[in-house]
Amino acid sequence: MKLFDLLIDFHKGAYRQGPGSPEETRKAIYLLGIDNQTDLSIADIGCGTGAQTMILATQLQGQITAVDLSPIFLDELNQRAHKNGVAHKIQTLVCAMDDLPFQEEQFDLIWSEGAAYNMGFQQAIRYWKHFLKKGGFMALSEISWLTHNRPEALTQYWTNAYPQIDTVSNKIRVLEENGYTPIGHFILPEHCWIEHYYQPMISRFNMFLEQYDHAPFVVDFIQSEKEEIIQYERYKEYFGYGFYLVKK
Ligand code: SAH
Repeated sequence: MKLFDLLIDFHKGAYRQGPGSPEETRKAIYLLGIDNQTDLSIADIGCGTGAQTMILATQLQGQITAVDLSPIFLDELNQRAHKNGVAHKIQTLVCAMDDLPFQEEQFDLIWSEGAAYNMGFQQAIRYWKHFLKKGGFMALSEISWLTHNRPEALTQYWTNAYPQIDTVSNKIRVLEENGYTPIGHFILPEHCWIEHYYQPMISRFNMFLEQYDHAPFVVDFIQSEKEEIIQYERYKEYFGYGFYLVKK
C-alpha cells in the first residue's frame, strides 16, 4: 500500500484534512470583498472532503469546480453537498493540481486551503495564475513562519518536511514577484489546528492501528503524525498557517 492511499484511508470521513475552520473561510471571503450577488466561476484546488467548499457554496453565487487527487474524498464531498443542498453548485474533478484541464482565464476565484504545498507554493501560484481572470482573486492557506527567529530544531524539522516554508513577509513577496496584488492576510488561530484538525486525528489513531493490526508501516505513519502534533504543541508560537488573499 502506498503512503498516499494510507493517508486517504486515515483522513477519509474526517470533517477536514488540514487546519482551518468555517469562520476562517468566511473571514477570507469577507476580506477579499467578493461580490456575492454575481455568478462566479470558482476552483477549489486540493479540496479534500470539502470543508471549505461547503462554505464557498453557501456564501457565493456561481459554480465551483472542486479538484482533488482522491476520488474517495470527492465522493464524500458530493454526499456532503447533497446534504447541504448545494450539489447543483459543485462539480468534482479527480485531477492532479499540477496538470489541470482548465482554460486560460477561466476562473474569477481560485481557492486552496492547506493543499498548495503538494506541488510547492511557488509552482502553484505560477501555474494556477494562468487559469485566473485578470482582476480575479486567489485565496491560499500555507504553512508559514510566524517569527524571524526560531529554535534551530524546529527550522530543521520543517525545512526537511517542506523546504518552501517561509516567513509571512517572504510568502507575500513571492506573491508580489509573481504578479499578484496582496489584498490581505491573517494567521489561522490555534483552534483551527487543535479542535478542527489534530483532536479529531488523535481520536482516530487507536482505531486505525487496530484496523491495520498494528502493521509496522501504519505504526510508523501514526508515529510521524504524533511527532508533527508534538512539534505544533511545543513550537506553535513560531509557525502556523498563513491565509493569503491576492488579486491578479
Ligand atoms: N482543503 C482541504 C484538504 C487539505 S489536505 C482542507 O483544508 O480540509 C490536502 C488535499 O490535497 C488532500 O485532499 C489531498 O488528497 C490533495 N492532494 C494531494 N496531492 C494532490 C495533487 N497532486 N493534486 C490534487 N490534489 C492533491
